[in-house]
Amino acid sequence: MNGGTHIVIGAAAAGLGLWAAHTAGVAVLPAVAAASVAVAIAGALAPDIDHRDSTISKRVPGKLMGQGVRLLAIPATLALAIAYFGASSLSAAVLGSLDPLVRWGLILVVPAIVLRVASSLIALVFRHRGATHSLLFGAGASLLVAVVCMRFGVPPWYGLVFGGGWLTHLLADSLSRRGLPSLLWPFAGR
Ligand SMILES: [Zn+2]
Repeated sequence: MNGGTHIVIGAAAAGLGLWAAHTAGVAVLPAVAAASVAVAIAGALAPDIDHRDSTISKRVPGKLMGQGVRLLAIPATLALAIAYFGASSLSAAVLGSLDPLVRWGLILVVPAIVLRVASSLIALVFRHRGATHSLLFGAGASLLVAVVCMRFGVPPWYGLVFGGGWLTHLLADSLSRRGLPSLLWPFAGR
């Protein structure tokens, strides 16, 4: 099943969840709704990190890296020019003012590298539709997302949203001909 299909199903599930929350009288801010959909889509793409050519292993890090390098290019060029020609007070001040570009550039580039390295390692250890397509792996990944969220002062329930996205991926794959041989890994499958 391709990444586009998983994106649509993950986004639809998030939309349904938001609609249910709205119906239950929970006030959801637009920014929280948008972040929830993005996190659910990330969860819906994540299990295919066990395949080097999947959307989450290749297209997503490729896009993040491209945008990140673009942001970092200007401050990096200026820093090189300063190193070569020496810093005037003006160039040093301009470089200081470019801090947000550096920060956002790194926010994009670092996850791109993490995704590429993780997918290479996971594809080396597990076969496609193996352990990452299990309930246990999904639960562990969701817990990790919750911990990372807490570390950065973001509500930890985004871990549950990520897990929901992960489940939609498993559900969609289970309907395909190959099914999910490792759903109960490590007790079954590999
Ligand atoms: Zn899959």
